[in-house]
Amino acid sequence: MTISHIFIARFTSTNCFVLILAFMTMMVLASRTATALEIFSGHATQGGMVIIKTDPLAHLTIDGQTLAVAKNGLAVIGFHRDDIAPVDVVAQYPDGRHDTLTLTPTPREFEEQRIDGLPQNMVTPPQDVLDRIARDREEVSQARAITSDLNGWQQDFIWPSHGIITGIYGSRRILNGQPRAPHYGIDIAAAIGTPVKAPADGVITMVDDLYFTGITIIMDHGHGISSTFLHLDKANISVGMAVKQGDIIGEVGSTGRSTGAHLDWRINWFTKRLDPALLAGSMPNS
Ligand SMILES: [Zn+2]
Repeated sequence: MTISHIFIARFTSTNCFVLILAFMTMMVLASRTATALEIFSGHATQGGMVIIKTDPLAHLTIDGQTLAVAKNGLAVIGFHRDDIAPVDVVAQYPDGRHDTLTLTPTPREFEEQRIDGLPQNMVTPPQDVLDRIARDREEVSQARAITSDLNGWQQDFIWPSHGIITGIYGSRRILNGQPRAPHYGIDIAAAIGTPVKAPADGVITMVDDLYFTGITIIMDHGHGISSTFLHLDKANISVGMAVKQGDIIGEVGSTGRSTGAHLDWRINWFTKRLDPALLAGSMPNS
């Protein structure tokens, strides 16, 4: 081997080392950039839930308000039926850097649903039940305002009951000819007594018999995501109980303002109403 051969061999191995080092640095930087603040699942649409992935040590804010980050770096936000404004999610990292992710909910078309033949006292309640309705609303909003670090919202939601879908999220409702608030749940027609299962892990935060919604269960899935089950025949659980996805929590009924046996399932992110069908996917055949 000549001197020049040794020189070339040395040059090449040094070069190679530098290249590997540069490549590894790029990979580290690329993975940092990719996981700093991004959509992990879901998409920004009216009634949609978006899971964001960030640095577990990041401090997240959404339009200036703190957004809880789970230990694995995931966080959740939801969009109401009528949301159109973009929201800025800002991640502030311990090293002082920050990133912004702008989410703009895509608009959807909603149907009109007419329901006639309801007892008139359910459409326009008499004065003497208005106090009770106000108390019911307060109890429901308190349950939905609970903030916990449960992680049920990270699971793939399952349908709590199987059956024909007779009412969908977002439809404008006309009850006995009078326009009313949109429907925020998904109605699943099923026989009285059909089991209602927990769509994801959670803790029961409310069980009560309410004027409009009959026997009602609210379940906290963590980080502001809750499920509400209406018109039940029976509740098989009590407040404070922790339940696993698939556990039976009650039975389908027709209590409250209801025209037949069905389960009305709702999902909230705090006060925002989400579309359960976007979370649970298509109804399995059975
Ligand atoms: Zn309904």
